[in-house]
Amino acid sequence: MFKKILIANRGEIACRVAATARRLGVKTVAVYSDADARAKHVAACDEAVHIGGSAPKDSYLRWQAILDAAKTTGAEAIHPGYGFLSENEDFARACVAAGLVFIGPPASAISAMGLKAESKRLMEQAQVPLVPGYHGANQDPALLQAEADRIGYPVLIKASAGGGGKGMRAVEKAEDFLVALESCKREAINSFGDDAVLIEKYVQRPRHIEIQVFGDTHGHCVYLFERDCSVQRRHQKVLEEAPAPGMTPELRARMGEAAVAAARAVNYVGAGTVEFIVEQPGGYDHPEQMKFYFMEMNTRLQVEHPVTEAITGLDLVEWQLRVAAGEPLPLRQEDLRMHGHAIEARLCAENPDNQFLPATGTLDVYRKPAHTSFVRATDERLTGGVRVDDGVREGDTISPFYDSMVAKLIVHGDTREQALARLDEALAQTHIVGLATNVQFLRHVVRSPSFAQAKLDTALIQREQALLFNQQPVSLPLAVAAAVAETLVQERATEGADPFSKTDGWRSHGVFQRRFAFEDGDAHVPATLAYLHDGALRLTVGEGTGATTGLLSFAPCAEAEAVAVGHGGAWRLDVTFAGESTRATVYMQGERAHVFTPRGARTLVEVDLLAHAGDTAAEGGRLTAPMPGKVVSFAVKAGDAVKKGQPLAVMEAMKMEHTIAAPADGTVTELLYAPGDQVAEGAELLKLSVG
Ligand code: ADP
Ligand code: ADP
Ligand code: MG
Repeated sequence: MFKKILIANRGEIACRVAATARRLGVKTVAVYSDADARAKHVAACDEAVHIGGSAPKDSYLRWQAILDAAKTTGAEAIHPGYGFLSENEDFARACVAAGLVFIGPPASAISAMGLKAESKRLMEQAQVPLVPGYHGANQDPALLQAEADRIGYPVLIKASAGGGGKGMRAVEKAEDFLVALESCKREAINSFGDDAVLIEKYVQRPRHIEIQVFGDTHGHCVYLFERDCSVQRRHQKVLEEAPAPGMTPELRARMGEAAVAAARAVNYVGAGTVEFIVEQPGGYDHPEQMKFYFMEMNTRLQVEHPVTEAITGLDLVEWQLRVAAGEPLPLRQEDLRMHGHAIEARLCAENPDNQFLPATGTLDVYRKPAHTSFVRATDERLTGGVRVDDGVREGDTISPFYDSMVAKLIVHGDTREQALARLDEALAQTHIVGLATNVQFLRHVVRSPSFAQAKLDTALIQREQALLFNQQPVSLPLAVAAAVAETLVQERATEGADPFSKTDGWRSHGVFQRRFAFEDGDAHVPATLAYLHDGALRLTVGEGTGATTGLLSFAPCAEAEAVAVGHGGAWRLDVTFAGESTRATVYMQGERAHVFTPRGARTLVEVDLLAHAGDTAAEGGRLTAPMPGKVVSFAVKAGDAVKKGQPLAVMEAMKMEHTIAAPADGTVTELLYAPGDQVAEGAELLKLSVG
């Protein structure tokens, strides 16, 4: 085994690799960019080397700096994690040339599987089933259009060099083909530096089922069963589980053997994943009729590898290190067993209600469910456990430079039903304040009938959208009650219990009253709290006929938590108001009250009435960049009349294109940037006069 390895990555995967290395007594070297100088992965390793600026091309993609770091620290091997250099055959070759072990497959295998089109040609020879399509070298647009017409719509255009769900366009009809092709090629060249594409039949309602494979340098190759990653957004995985619901032992064996054949065809060594797209001609109730087609092979450790670890009790990073050190695979195919059911949820900084736009910001509050960090499942069975793999701590920043994934939540249970319940509970206990995340959205997905009943396909999110987006599981009166309760608890803690010491109260009919004002989206919600003679509190939320009135009672419960730094109280409260009761944790962040309850979370703005006297209505018609990025194009010019929802501009940020739409009907008065301009988050892109 190695004495010291360098981890050429960041975030959760760098921490994950470091955990196993530490357990095996292998020393670790971290590398880091400017933005990551104080990152968790740096602390997780024994040594750390600064390798450059924040943008990946200035640090995590700079091989020479990484090879130099390995040399100077005396590391014998390099673990690339996923993303960055993990699937870069030139880097794998450079490691070997520098006398270092690349913890991954040989460069020849990466190269054979690196381009989707070429790997498909190879798989065709190995008789692995393929989706009907075109994966030739000729890239003439007219020929591509003719191929798409031949395949029949809908088709999917894919960047051959693509990954991470980027560089893909579904095309419904022939007329749309060339526009989609152009946009796909543009994204492909920006993200992958290669605009070659392939075309596939767009499989309707498919499942994504992938097989974990492992090879060693002694000619062994096994499969560690499957993972179902059908729940996706933007062609990217949201939830992953193992085993795949409905999978039969017969189909598992056939898919496993096809995956091993694919791996053997390229002399695979180490951890790899063969991804299949699976058609369900018999519908959800006849999984035995599923037909699978090779999609691509990822020649690295996968983000979702923990679900395989949970059901097999194995440490896949340990296997990677052993294989890279020249040891044979620890187990043979017939020795591999599965137990129970595991699900992983990817917690991302993004706004599901706004087309999953990635979000940036500071993790002002980051509370995780009671969990274990990575542990070897055979030592300490994950059953009953929740595992959190992350690379951040409270107070850390999610910057625009890297992936928007904040953490992975992995649960394991004896059955799928149990795992689901644990996941829902773990998500409820995950409190993040400071930036938009998909935590609430994930809960809605987990509870949706389709997911709960395992009616899986890649259209699940779209099919269930009415239940998934813009949901408010906490009623407005209850959220206001919790926020008021928190305010009172904080006041008692800092000022004593005397309500009469407050300056903003008044007396009416001998009853002391206080006024509050909240904003919930665009709605203004006044609230009045009356201190009754018997000591009870009567709260009125809203006004007129829509108002809710009732007694408010609350009590901080026994397990008071530490106070989140700078954000007021974080006591757990039992709150009862107007027929509803809940346990709530409320974080105050400036004027924002973030209410977390077991049924969900809701954020209100608590307006400080004194501070805001005399404010005028917010200005309209400003259209700002939702994130730092580049202006790709404007779809309008000054003077154009536009309708609400009409696309105005396309921005590229985080290697993806985002369309900015008109928030209301109006007229464009001025464009403030030109295509190609780099813009900061919040920069005004164009002026719109509304109405
Ligand atoms: P997985 O395939 O492991 O399930 P993803 O597809 O989301 O997970 O990719 C994992 C990570 O690797 C993400 O950070 C993604 O952006 C990155 N990634 C994957 N493939 C590529 C690629 N070809 N080029 C650049 N980044 C990639
Ligand atoms: P990436 O390298 O970005 O992971 P993949 O080729 O693995 O690209 O495809 C990503 C996802 O896109 C798949 O998981 C699936 O949901 C969808 N997809 C890919 N190919 C097809 C297809 N032919 N028909 C329908 N959906 C597809
Ligand atoms: Mg893929």
